[in-house]
Amino acid sequence: MNRIIHTQEHHTPLYTTESFRYRDEVVATNGENNTYYAGAYLGDGLHEGAIASAYRVAQLIGSPLAVSKLLIHNS
Ligand SMILES: Cc1cc2nc3c(=O)[nH]c(=O)nc-3n(C[C@H](O)[C@H](O)[C@H](O)COP(=O)(O)OP(=O)(O)OC[C@H]3O[C@@H](n4cnc5c(N)ncnc54)[C@H](O)[C@@H]3O)c2cc1C
Repeated sequence: MNRIIHTQEHHTPLYTTESFRYRDEVVATNGENNTYYAGAYLGDGLHEGAIASAYRVAQLIGSPLAVSKLLIHNS
């Protein structure tokens, strides 16, 4: 049997000069009012950006994992 069950469209983010400005603002104010943001859109829009932004949030909230990884990375 050859049947399509579901079709879904995905799009990679389309960045503009304005979106970069807002991205930088969100990154600079991340953590204000105990509100944290993570997502690829806060980086390069790819997997690395998603991981890096989540790691930054982990550092901001003082995650022991983020601290120990940072120490290993810097040693
Ligand atoms: C077609 C396509 C191909 C790609 N190819 C590559 C590639 O080859 N290499 C690469 O590096 N990147 C690629 N990317 C980009 C990469 O997949 C994304 O940048 C990355 O997965 C984004 O991670 P994220 O954690 O920011 O968001 P997501 O992976 O989108 O995760 C967000 C999560 O939040 C959930 N969510 C949304 N709203 C709510 C809500 N209200 N409550 C609870 N949960 C919610 C969603 O269900 C989702 O699980 C591709 C993207 C697309 C669309």
